[in-house]
Amino acid sequence: MVQPDHEVVIVGAGFGGMGGAIELKRQGVESIAILEREDDLGGTWHVNHYPGLAVDIASVTYSYSFEPNPFWSRLFAPGAELKRYAEHIADKYDLKRHMEFGTSVEKAEWDEQSRLWTVYTADGSSRTCRYYVTATGFLSQPHVPDFPGLDSFEGKVLHTADWEDGFDFTGRRVAIIGTGATAVELIPEAARDAAHLTVFQRTPIWVVPKVDFPIPAALQNLFATVPLTQRTARLVNTSLLEMLMVFGVLHFKQFKPGNKAAALLARAHLRAQVPDRATRRALTPDYDFGCKRPTFSNKYFRAYARPNVTLETGGIGHFEPDAIVSADGTRHEIDTLVLATGFDLWDTNFPAMTVIGREGRNLGKWWRDNRFQAFEGITVPRFPNFLSLNSPYSYSGLSYFTTIEAQMKHIARLFGEMRRRKSEVFEVTDAANDAFLDEVTEHLQSSVFYRGNCATSRSYYFDPHGEATLLRPNSTLTTLREMDCYPLESYSYR
Ligand code: NAP
Repeated sequence: MVQPDHEVVIVGAGFGGMGGAIELKRQGVESIAILEREDDLGGTWHVNHYPGLAVDIASVTYSYSFEPNPFWSRLFAPGAELKRYAEHIADKYDLKRHMEFGTSVEKAEWDEQSRLWTVYTADGSSRTCRYYVTATGFLSQPHVPDFPGLDSFEGKVLHTADWEDGFDFTGRRVAIIGTGATAVELIPEAARDAAHLTVFQRTPIWVVPKVDFPIPAALQNLFATVPLTQRTARLVNTSLLEMLMVFGVLHFKQFKPGNKAAALLARAHLRAQVPDRATRRALTPDYDFGCKRPTFSNKYFRAYARPNVTLETGGIGHFEPDAIVSADGTRHEIDTLVLATGFDLWDTNFPAMTVIGREGRNLGKWWRDNRFQAFEGITVPRFPNFLSLNSPYSYSGLSYFTTIEAQMKHIARLFGEMRRRKSEVFEVTDAANDAFLDEVTEHLQSSVFYRGNCATSRSYYFDPHGEATLLRPNSTLTTLREMDCYPLESYSYR
């Protein structure tokens, strides 16, 4: 039998990749290489460090359940604390020695004869492994729109996913393009310091108040000394999120009034913060709450009530060396351009590199020629020994950590069975994959995505086929249970 360079290669040193590595180590696998294209660990929390960055899922829930951090400074911790938490996880679970930074994977290919994957990196080298795991995130390929004349702009250009630490907006004439969750955090910061800020909005976003506060030292100490108290806080918060997801998103058909109530709350929030009626109208979405990811902020709407902030909804015409000219010909003179234009999900991220499986199946092509699909959101037929952690239907619940921990359960069950059978190769069957796809497709029929008015939302929850294939349409309890007891015959073993 041919010995590979590594038993496992994991691509991505964010929370997904680290969760996968922790589980594989629990399964007794030690020969693991974690390849990371960035220069440090932490994934999205390493890459994103723009001003105002914080989690928007309360920190008691947005963390591994088996590794609570009692010392979050706020209910919604700032981004830098998440980065430190990632460091702590890597240290505590002895993951750093497996990590190779600045290593960008371009392609992986299964070889049926040796029953190994060959992983090709951007430096021209390759290595082999028995198991290949991708944990490349959903939001990891920054999107820079092809605006006419953008190259001719002579001022400062920043993408939120490539921030210059210490960058100061003071006295600058700034344009921010985009009004997604990132812009919602950044706009109040820029508005505070800039001489003038113009926000280019294409699609408004639903924004509800953020109930956030510092966690007093006494409570942090209580969480540290009596862990049950923090577990209880997590349970309460997770249950609330679960209700939002199950009733507001997945069972929109049956619970429309709850969804409408959320939209009413967002409208009231807007009314309380923006006195000008025309501005309010421009900031009000015309699609249902939940079609697109809503966000939380107490400062976002307020920024538009400032005299130094302009909301531009006329669309971008072209760039000039010192200005953006909007589609209606209005010239906005600027010296600083911030692209809060998000990420390419479907074009470049599913998958994030070329993956060739058995019989030469190309994963990206297969998904595009057929439908986006993955059994239990993690494995794909014709891709033996491949775990794709950021797959269609993998995202379960509102906290990414639920998804990661569910996948860790899936891995534990699969590797346990392989040990029992003394197998080295697994591959999901067509039958199991088809049955799962039918099941999720049916469940989605009651969701806001298909029952709501989403046509104008431009939501990244929809794939290029127009199907909402990002979220797994069931409760997280169901996901966790199914990951623990899916039929073992869903896989063939060799
Ligand atoms: P996003 O939600 O995809 O928003 C990108 C924004 O750029 C949208 O407003 C989009 O407008 C606009 N845009 C893109 N291309 C454009 C073009 N050609 N012309 C004009 N406008 C254009 O990206 P994001 O704000 O970075 O957030 C991505 C996700 O990251 C969020 O949904 C969330 O899951 C996560 N996130 C989380 C946090 C947190 O936890 N605190 C913070 C930030 C982000 P359209 O809507 O019209 O396409």
